[in-house]
Amino acid sequence: MTKAIVIGAGFGGLALAIRLQSAGIATTLVEARDKPGGRAYVWNDQGHIFDAGPTVITDPDALKELWALSGQDMARDVTLVPVSPFYRLIWPGGKVFDYVNEADRLEEQIARFNPDDLEGYRRFRAYSEEVYQEGYVKLGTVPFLKLGQMLRAAPALMRLEAYRSVHSKVASFIRDPYLRQAFSYHTLLVGGNPFATSSIYALIHALERRGGVWFAKGGTNRLVAGMVALFERLGGQVMLNAKVARIETEGSRATGVTLADRRRLDADMVASNGDVMHNYRDLLGHTSRGQGQARSLDRKRWSMSLFVLHFGLREMPQGLAHHTILFGPRYKELVNEIFKGPKLPDDFSLYLHSPSVTDPDMAPAGMSTHYVLAPVPHLGRAEIDWSKEGPAYADRILASLEERLIPNLRANLTTTRIFTPVDFQTELSAHHGSAFSVEPILTQSAWFRPHNRDKVIRNFYLVGAGTHPGAGIPGVVGSAKATAQVMLSDAMPGAGAA
Ligand SMILES: Cc1cc2nc3c(=O)[nH]c(=O)nc-3n(C[C@H](O)[C@H](O)[C@H](O)COP(=O)(O)OP(=O)(O)OC[C@H]3O[C@@H](n4cnc5c(N)ncnc54)[C@H](O)[C@@H]3O)c2cc1C
Repeated sequence: MTKAIVIGAGFGGLALAIRLQSAGIATTLVEARDKPGGRAYVWNDQGHIFDAGPTVITDPDALKELWALSGQDMARDVTLVPVSPFYRLIWPGGKVFDYVNEADRLEEQIARFNPDDLEGYRRFRAYSEEVYQEGYVKLGTVPFLKLGQMLRAAPALMRLEAYRSVHSKVASFIRDPYLRQAFSYHTLLVGGNPFATSSIYALIHALERRGGVWFAKGGTNRLVAGMVALFERLGGQVMLNAKVARIETEGSRATGVTLADRRRLDADMVASNGDVMHNYRDLLGHTSRGQGQARSLDRKRWSMSLFVLHFGLREMPQGLAHHTILFGPRYKELVNEIFKGPKLPDDFSLYLHSPSVTDPDMAPAGMSTHYVLAPVPHLGRAEIDWSKEGPAYADRILASLEERLIPNLRANLTTTRIFTPVDFQTELSAHHGSAFSVEPILTQSAWFRPHNRDKVIRNFYLVGAGTHPGAGIPGVVGSAKATAQVMLSDAMPGAGAA
């Protein structure tokens, strides 16, 4: 029986392990931390359930597919609850936009901002559908191993003007400056600068409209736990507290891994869900391939990082939405400073997650659980002493939330915890503490992104945010599908892919 090791139990690693195990490959999932999930880690603190990362679940069908591979039903392990509005957007000065799925309600809101933009919005929606079909349905799970595949995709990408940024494309349809923000900020959710990320990412609007926005009852950690349960039922093995120190090779083949505690695990195939730079620089640093790839990755542009502040409140604030975006006074200038540095910007835009709105069980009775995050420069762009800056930044953010959205917030705090770019670096081995890996610009996407299978070490594979198609749950779950196709056809030439 073919044996595979998957390093890392993030969403990408879990989805790949499920696909391999479902296809009959004996798979061991080796995770450095004490819990699975990666960026979707969880803390339980005084009865508050704090999901560390992803909260917006889109394209549930891509997840259900993982259960369907073995004839199972995701509902056995996970309950998904719809969220509405998808997001509430709030600007300084008090303008509010409820980003909902129902076309007539959404159009009502657009008309409130600028009736002349209705027609443009409808054309944007049609464009978003087209890029969704081309970029997500056709290309989202194709492993771009050969330049020819990129060349075949090029005419469609040119026709859709993929060389333009999301913001520039949105601005070609919509005039109102607030609405331009409302339909372009989504790239930030997958680590992309709206002013630099390829307009293909405008597909997110269609993705959300088609599949909805969901929340896993009990938190995203329940989705992770459900994936682990499925994998183990299939016979897969999960090892926690098992940090891989080195990928072993013989010539141009990976033969297994050695853990930090010196245990050695052999395998016919090795895939990694870890940070791509960590894979090549640290785990394969003893090979010339690892060193060469690390040099090339160092020249790439990396996504921004995040400052995440979790907090519990003694009460449930009235009238909150589940997902709120609080825009700051600047948009383009702020985003530029976040992506380019050289310092922590004075102002911020915030995303507030309030899961107790949908699921009161996320906090003790009558209380509520939240996190607020601000995109910030990664460690390679700005030298910030987060141990000093972090608590002060947290205070400024809480004061701003109190002023703009949740009166008496600071008097009602039960607990807080912060996660800074340094934590992304130390806890997740993320290069520069980037929250989303290699930046999703056109010249770092598809064939230009680190490939799902290594070119030299032919039985070493990548899965997760750093390979094609990229970050976000639908992205990394799609990367698992692409990587599984390659691994299964390598393991069983001629057999169908999972
Ligand atoms: C705060 C935040 C909010 C987000 N919100 C959303 C959202 O709402 N919706 C959405 O779709 N996306 C969201 N994202 C993005 C999404 O969470 C990530 O893109 C995705 O979860 C990354 O998954 P991954 O498969 O790349 O693995 P990761 O989550 O990066 O996990 C990699 C795993 O590999 C392990 N590992 C690394 N090195 C080793 C080693 N040497 N040995 C063993 N194990 C190792 C790590 O410990 C980790 O568990 C968010 C991200 C963040 C940070």
